[in-house]
Amino acid sequence: MKSKVCNTCHISKPLSEFNRDNHASDGHRSRCSKCRNKSRRETEKKKYTYKVFRGMVYCVECEGFYKIGVTSYGIRKRLQSIQTGNPFEVKIVWVKRTNNVGKYERMLHQQLKDNHVRGEWYAIPKVLAKELKNIVRHDEES
Ligand SMILES: [Zn+2]
Repeated sequence: MKSKVCNTCHISKPLSEFNRDNHASDGHRSRCSKCRNKSRRETEKKKYTYKVFRGMVYCVECEGFYKIGVTSYGIRKRLQSIQTGNPFEVKIVWVKRTNNVGKYERMLHQQLKDNHVRGEWYAIPKVLAKELKNIVRHDEES
């Protein structure tokens, strides 16, 4: 069986442990899939850590669909950019300031995952959309 040494963990593993890559000379990636998944998880974690900043969590409505998102700059500007990519009118349901944008964005998206439509858009009743505002808090510094 052909094997290959992973350039990250330096362990010799069978080729089947490496994902295919048509651009590579031997047709396989230089990092084993275990190392690859690990670094992907770390990137994901960093992304969230990075998102711990003061900003706003918002909920906008468009044709009965709701988008939950975050912004570090003004909501008007954010709304404008959402509106640009949308033929229907986008309305603000609520905007709430917080010092931990990433935490609440994650919490809300997690809570709504069964109603997910596409991107940050969700199909939820208006009552629920309004109630979501109560989840977002301005945490005291710890
Ligand atoms: Zn490896």
